[in-house]
Amino acid sequence: MTFNPADLVEVQRDVKALIHIPFNALGILGDTDHADGGTSYHLGKNQLRDDAYSLTQSNRDKHATNAASAFDLGNEWRFEAANDTAAKKRAQRAFLRFNHLYVAALKAKVPGTEDIREIIYTPDGDEVKTFDVLKIRSGGDSNHRTHTHTSFFRDSEGRRAGAYRKLLLRLINQAISEEGDFMATVKQQDWDALIWRVEGLAAGRPAVAGGPTKKAPIGATTRLEALALKLEAVSRAVASVAPDVERRLQDDFKRIDADQDATLATIKEVAADVSLDGRLRTLLDKHASGEIDADTVVREMHDLLTGPTA
Ligand SMILES: [Zn+2]
Repeated sequence: MTFNPADLVEVQRDVKALIHIPFNALGILGDTDHADGGTSYHLGKNQLRDDAYSLTQSNRDKHATNAASAFDLGNEWRFEAANDTAAKKRAQRAFLRFNHLYVAALKAKVPGTEDIREIIYTPDGDEVKTFDVLKIRSGGDSNHRTHTHTSFFRDSEGRRAGAYRKLLLRLINQAISEEGDFMATVKQQDWDALIWRVEGLAAGRPAVAGGPTKKAPIGATTRLEALALKLEAVSRAVASVAPDVERRLQDDFKRIDADQDATLATIKEVAADVSLDGRLRTLLDKHASGEIDADTVVREMHDLLTGPTA
């Protein structure tokens, strides 16, 4: 019968420690379906047909043992304390992000990928793709929407707890931390957008105007700047102790206000992107009606204001 080789068991144990998914979502040897087919890398030699693709398509598979030579990595990761709907969505996005990183590493022949024959994965949770280094196989069963399959050339038995394991753990960690960083960035951008709008209101701009979020909030800054200039003018006037202090002060204040008005008028022109504002409002309406959740609002608002991200 097929057995679980020790090196892949080590990989399995470490992955489980990291993302806490059940062992049955981290499969090595094949289940009944695989056994019936008699062709899979999840099976060892004595359960395989002689013409099995996992024996015949590469010289590296010719000297097979009864060890399985594949590893399944399920989704539904759990890497944070929270386990609510939002946490589950973050976990699913980390899983998809991992798939991209993993396949990119194989395509780029990153050290640790030398023994991988193929990865069957989903880039988006829907479509299923195969990247086969032999460029023979493609497509894939729809059950790969919820797990990522890796086949190893059979001559690699015994060494996958080395460079491969290191790479796999590094990519899983990267996917998890990038998901965290991304959400932090999105929330910061959202705050920036909100602050910009509130300050725009304070500066007398219409509330409907859209606006840039990449630059500092101009409305309030201009106001504060004007105030500072006026204080400066006061101290200059007081210092001069001239008889016409009041008139000179009034003149200075008028000039400062005129400058501020000109600046605010320019801001208003730039900010009056009503089409963007309409899209933001549609987004908020969808949220109000329950069509999309707050997380989605934040992500889509981020995309609207800054252009699409990963
Ligand atoms: Zn599999």
